[in-house]
Amino acid sequence: MTTLNLNASVAIAADNTDQAKTSLFYQEQDNEVALFEYAYNQQLPVLIKGPTGCGKTRFVAHMAEKLNKPLYTVACHDDLTAADLVGRHLVGPQGTYWQDGPLTRAVREGGICYLDEVVEARKDTTVVLHPLADDRRILPLERTGELIEAAPGFMLVVSYNPGYQNLFKGMKPSTRQRFIGLRFGYPESEIEQDIIIKETGVEPNLAFKLVELAQALRRLEDNDLEEVASTRLLIYAAKMMTSGMNPLDVCRCCLAEPLSDDIQTVNSIMEVVKIYF
Ligand code: ADP
Repeated sequence: MTTLNLNASVAIAADNTDQAKTSLFYQEQDNEVALFEYAYNQQLPVLIKGPTGCGKTRFVAHMAEKLNKPLYTVACHDDLTAADLVGRHLVGPQGTYWQDGPLTRAVREGGICYLDEVVEARKDTTVVLHPLADDRRILPLERTGELIEAAPGFMLVVSYNPGYQNLFKGMKPSTRQRFIGLRFGYPESEIEQDIIIKETGVEPNLAFKLVELAQALRRLEDNDLEEVASTRLLIYAAKMMTSGMNPLDVCRCCLAEPLSDDIQTVNSIMEVVKIYF
């Protein structure tokens, strides 16, 4: 993976381009691989909704690898503007020159552009996303006067976490209705155990206990916790345990503390942890 820092406010990971490829493990949860492939074949954009750490980014990276496409990943944030996506004029020793942003590169190369947490981005980004996400498949570059037709393999993929949304940060229906929607959740117990084992090499018994614990914590969600234990956190915990750390300490720093700032809640999580470790 190459990280290109084209400017201070956007970090872009251009994967699968010129670097040696390593096969990324992805455990399918339902029929999302086939759905994504159909959407790709039909040149349709895809929207993935799901909680943090449930495998959205891994899935997109896996699909880019499977389809042999360059992948441009952009982690959206509230200062991200359309210019961060399409590009901007820069000043160099030879004077001013234009530098394509990640979206423009993907459009020209026929790659996949993945906008993670797209609802965080500034609203002006919809101006460039709409004509790309419908049957026009064009990208107007206002600053250069260019109108780029997306290369045949270009695919726009966006994701967001519906749980984070508030009144001001929802995705507009006119944007949402341009995408094929996939809903992700945390994997079923056996699949999640499998993921933990494959990602960390832990014994099945430990993976089983971590998933049981996560499920107990997930049942607390509506009452006590804003967020529940993600697959990502379970993987962190499994990795720390294999390095020899005490399981209770691991669960405190990998699960309880990342899930809550409230000391009472952290203590309650630890009470649940003690049932399993
Ligand atoms: P998200 O983008 O939804 O926040 P990620 O894709 O970054 O989450 O997933 C977090 C981690 O969980 C990944 O790095 C990977 O180790 C693991 N993971 C989650 N789901 C899967 C899956 N289905 N197959 C393989 N690994 C997964």
